[in-house]
Amino acid sequence: MSIKQVTSHPTQNEALIFERSQTGRVGYMLPKLDVDTANLDEILPAELRRSDDLDGVPEVSEVDVIRHFTRMSTWNYSIDLGMYPLGSCTMKYNSRLNEKVARIAGFAGLHPLSPEEESQGALELAYLLQEDLAEITGLPGVTLQPAAGAHGEMTGVLLIRAFLDKRDGEASKERRVMLIPDSAHGTNPASAALAGFTVKTIKSNSEGLTDLEHLKQLCSEGGVAGLMLTNPSTVGIFEKNIKEICDIIHSAGGLVYMDGANMNALVGVARPGDMGVDVIHLNLHKTFSTPHGGGGPGCGPCCCSADLEPFLPTPRVVKNGDKFSLDYNRPDSIGRVKAFYGNFGMFVRALAYIQTHGASGLVEATESAVLNARYVSHALAEEFDKPFESDCMHEAIFSHKKQTRKGVHTLDIAKRLIDYGFHPMTVYFPLIVEGAMLIEPTESVGRQDLDAFVDAMKSIAQEAQENPQLVIDAPHTTRIGRLDEATAARKPVLRWKMGEQALGAS
Ligand SMILES: *Cc1c(COP(=O)(O)O)cnc(C)c1O
Repeated sequence: MSIKQVTSHPTQNEALIFERSQTGRVGYMLPKLDVDTANLDEILPAELRRSDDLDGVPEVSEVDVIRHFTRMSTWNYSIDLGMYPLGSCTMKYNSRLNEKVARIAGFAGLHPLSPEEESQGALELAYLLQEDLAEITGLPGVTLQPAAGAHGEMTGVLLIRAFLDKRDGEASKERRVMLIPDSAHGTNPASAALAGFTVKTIKSNSEGLTDLEHLKQLCSEGGVAGLMLTNPSTVGIFEKNIKEICDIIHSAGGLVYMDGANMNALVGVARPGDMGVDVIHLNLHKTFSTPHGGGGPGCGPCCCSADLEPFLPTPRVVKNGDKFSLDYNRPDSIGRVKAFYGNFGMFVRALAYIQTHGASGLVEATESAVLNARYVSHALAEEFDKPFESDCMHEAIFSHKKQTRKGVHTLDIAKRLIDYGFHPMTVYFPLIVEGAMLIEPTESVGRQDLDAFVDAMKSIAQEAQENPQLVIDAPHTTRIGRLDEATAARKPVLRWKMGEQALGAS
C-alpha cells in the first residue's frame, strides 16, 4: 500500500476567504429594518446608497469565518508561544496586566479632544510616565509624542538642530555633519538625513567599539553637529569610553544623541544623562514591554537635557499645583511630531510595567536580561564563532564562520531553527560582522527555555558538520519551505482579483 501524500490538510493549506465564498451563504443577519422605506429618499439620498449587491464581499457562514481565521492564527509564531530571540528587537513578554489596565474604560474610551478638566487622570498618567522616564534616563525633558523608535530619533536630531540654530544663528548652517558609527541601526543615518544633516561614518575597532582616533579625526575636520551613538552598541557591547566620547563631541561644539533602543541593558543600572548624553529615544515597545508592530502601535519617547527642553514638541504635559494641563505656549518648539499626544494606550502599558516592577524590579529585569544573553554567549562559544572577546550585555553575537566551510550560512541556521520550534534570531545585522547572528533572549525566558534553545543551536551546529544539506534545505516542517525572498520583497502580490489563482496555493 502506498502512502498518499496529503497536500490539502486544512490547517496547512487555507484558501483565501474570498475563495471560500458560496453565493447565498450567510453568517450573520441584520435585524429587520425599522425605518419606513416608503420615503427612503428623504432619509438617505440615492447618491449615498450602494446600488450593487456588495459584489466581491465573501459569502460565508459563521463557522467558515471562525475556522478560517483560527487556522491562519496557527501559522503565526508569537511571543505567547515561545522564545523570540531577535537581537536588537527586544521581544519581551507583554504582560496581561498591562493589557488589563489599558482596557480600563476611562482610559480606553477617552476622546483625545476631551477638555483638560475631564482628562485629569489621563494627563496625570502621561505626566507620571514622563517623570519615570526622566528618572530612568537621567534626562529631565521628555516628550511622549513619537510613535516609533525611528520617529523618536528624528525628533531627537531635530532638537539638536533647533538648539544649534538658536545658539549659533547663521553660523549653524556650517554645522551640519552627523557622525554615526558603522555598526549603527539603519534608521540612524535615515533620521539624520531627514533632519537635514550629512552623515559621516565612524569606524568600529576590533573590539566592536567606537574607534576614538577616527572620531577625533572626524571632529577635527569641523562642521560637527553631533553624534548618534547606540549604547550598548548593536553588537551588544557596552561603549566603555562613553564619557570620553561625549567630551570629544562637546568640545567640538556638537551634541550627543544616544539611540536608546538597547536600554534593556541599562534600566535601573546606569543613566545616559550621567554619561554625558544630551538626548535619547526609548522604545516603549522594546524595553518597556508594550506590544510590537501587529500587536499595537509603537511609542518612541524622546528624553533630553534641560538645555534642549525648550525645543521639545508641542504640546507638553505639565503640572501646575495639583492640576495637569497641555502647554502650547512654547515659542522655541520644533512643533508637533504626532497627531494629538502620542499613542496613549502605550503610555498606560509602559507605566504599568514600570510601576509593577518598581525600582528594584527594573534592576532585576535588566540583570536577568544581561545574564540570559551571557548564558547563551558562553554556552555556544565552542560551536559558533564569536567575533568579539568582551562579555556581551543584553544580546549575544556570533558569525557563521565555523559553518561556512561546509557551505552552511547564517540564513540556513536561522531557517533550521524554525524546525526546532524557535523563532530565528536577527540575521546579517549589524553589517560589520559578516554572517552575523544576533541573539537577544530578554529577561522573559527561564533556564529551561534557554537550555532548549542552546540545545537546538548545538544540534544545528552538529548537523552542519555531519549533514549540511539538511540545514541548507531547512525548514522541513513548515507549510512553505524556502521562499524566494528577493522576489517576495520586490514584487509582492498584495491584491486578490476574482478568478485569479491565489499566490502560494500551489
Ligand atoms: C529597533 C531599533 C530602532 C528603531 O525602532 P523602531 O521602533 O523600529 O522605529 C532604532 N535603533 C535600534 C538600535 C533599534 O534596535
